[in-house]
Amino acid sequence: MTKRKKAVDPAVRVEELRELIRRHEHAYYVLDQPEVSDAEYDAIFKELRQIEEDRPDLLTPYSPTQRVGGEASDQFAKVRHRSPMLSLQNAFDEAEIRAFDKRVRAAVGEKVVYCAELKIDGLAISLTYAKGRLQRAATRGDGTVGEDVTANVRTIRSVPLAVPSAKGLPDLFEVRGEVYFPIAGFEKLNREMEAAGKPRFVNPRNTAAGSVRQIDPNVTASRNLQTFMYTLDPSGPAKSQWDVLNTLESMGFRVNKNRRRLPSIDEVIEYHAEWQRRRHELEYEIDGMVVKVDGFPQQLELGFVARSPRWAIAFKYAPEQAETEVEEIACYVGRTGVLTPVAHVKPVVVGGVTIRNVTMHNEAQVNEKGVYVGARVVIHRAGDVIPEIVSVKVPKPGWKMPTMCPVCGGEVVREEPYIAHRCINPFCAAQRLERLRHFGAVMDIEGLGYATLTQVIDRGMVEDPSDLYRLNRDQLVELDGFADKSAQNLVDRIAASNRPELGRFLYALGIPQVGGATADLLAADFGSIEVLRSATEEDLQRVEGVGPNMAREVHMYFQGPGGELVTKLLAAGVEPQAVEAVGDGPFSGKTFVFTGTLETISRPDAEALVRKLGGKAAGSVSSKTDYVVAGPGAGSKLEKAQKLKLTILDEEQFKALLPR
Ligand SMILES: [Zn+2]
Repeated sequence: MTKRKKAVDPAVRVEELRELIRRHEHAYYVLDQPEVSDAEYDAIFKELRQIEEDRPDLLTPYSPTQRVGGEASDQFAKVRHRSPMLSLQNAFDEAEIRAFDKRVRAAVGEKVVYCAELKIDGLAISLTYAKGRLQRAATRGDGTVGEDVTANVRTIRSVPLAVPSAKGLPDLFEVRGEVYFPIAGFEKLNREMEAAGKPRFVNPRNTAAGSVRQIDPNVTASRNLQTFMYTLDPSGPAKSQWDVLNTLESMGFRVNKNRRRLPSIDEVIEYHAEWQRRRHELEYEIDGMVVKVDGFPQQLELGFVARSPRWAIAFKYAPEQAETEVEEIACYVGRTGVLTPVAHVKPVVVGGVTIRNVTMHNEAQVNEKGVYVGARVVIHRAGDVIPEIVSVKVPKPGWKMPTMCPVCGGEVVREEPYIAHRCINPFCAAQRLERLRHFGAVMDIEGLGYATLTQVIDRGMVEDPSDLYRLNRDQLVELDGFADKSAQNLVDRIAASNRPELGRFLYALGIPQVGGATADLLAADFGSIEVLRSATEEDLQRVEGVGPNMAREVHMYFQGPGGELVTKLLAAGVEPQAVEAVGDGPFSGKTFVFTGTLETISRPDAEALVRKLGGKAAGSVSSKTDYVVAGPGAGSKLEKAQKLKLTILDEEQFKALLPR
């Protein structure tokens, strides 16, 4: 007798598959904990789609295959909310949040528990469910009337199309929350826009709003929007905001984990401050914290004023973007003569700091953004990040670098292949000042700042770094800001810097293209300044990380005025310390490149450690690199290492290599 396979009833199988997909979508998009591989998920999805194609009678609009393609006929129709979507009052500082707390306690007594939730900088949305099925999605609009965006919101995978019946909830209920654009997805979208030669999007919030209001739901689906839900109306058996959040979570909605129930306003303030510090760890932008009186009986007692509840407040963070106007575009001249455009703007507070100047990289960047004098611009500044112009209201390219150096009047040229413009006058006062400042900083001469340097240059006491070693106390006492003691201290500190390690000395010279790591490699390879300054281009190219361009620059430097400067420095008593030939050690013959931020050791210290153990630390990645140690923020070096299939270590793995 042959075994006969029992035929599976397609009507049963579709329901099984839909349930499986719902479970996997919930695990993946809501909990962030996928249970199956993408391939397995795709296989289940394909099977369901096949059955639905064969048996159109089994198809329903609530099938997971139907997220995209719902009827869009009534899209953007105006819809009236069942109850108005609230607007919150704002508190901008501690005094205002304390005043809120005082009003609350005056009305309902001393025992108040607050529910604190992150305020997502997204688009408020309302989802109406009827008999467990998503019936309608609407934007907030003016709070009373919004727009029907059902076809688009259905494509957001963390929005359940169907929810299990919850105890104590009526057939018709509404869930409210926020739709947002995850930052990583936003940055990816902008890279794609740039690659396609299209303008960048300004910020994730506006882009999320634009994505929800697309005519074609396929576009919305491609944007991978996310959601956080926080309101349930009616709230069923829930007795507090805290209960609501937990109920929503158990129904399968995505609810933000960063929430607390706090028994005092002091703790609310502390929690608010914690997220102000940590906001950049999040994959979404927040603009504050929503603070609600937790208990519903107390909320009821407090009631409303106009359309704002008296029991809730938005405790805001300083905005990280602001609009202002460009008043002037000036140029700053660096130590190598490179001109950097700086937009002077009408002072504006961004991220809690007053911004007056925004640096741009070069002429090309000014024109890509279309910045000009009088332009209205949006400035962004987040955390410790340098402020930047993210967009211009009416961009106009055509800004030109000056043809004369703004400081010395010398000729400004752009030498191919470099993108930068440079003042080529070797006696340029701006370059001289910056070179001296760089020398002082690298040689670790404390107290040699711009104010002092400007004075010694203006008085003709110092022209190049070798003159620093001839300064005496009597000369310095003449300067503004100096007394006998401080003058002597500076003389002593300069004198104390006269036996630098060779690598440090080379870096301090400011040889074009030679950074700290390259300077150390040159020092390690050539051992002494005498050997290095007489090296040929071929000799130089043999050094790890030194290409033909750099070899030519270094060679030209020592043949030209750089060689004279070295002679003068040696004559002034500076003795660069020869580096011992690299000896044997566990890292002998190995080259390391460090990139990104290291957590427990500075990059120079890590590089010094590698050299001590017999290895080399290089500044750039090549096929000759043995290890790339990458920390957070690693960029192009890491990408190159991946392309070359080099061994990439994190900080822990690097430390594991060190001898114990
Ligand atoms: Zn100049």
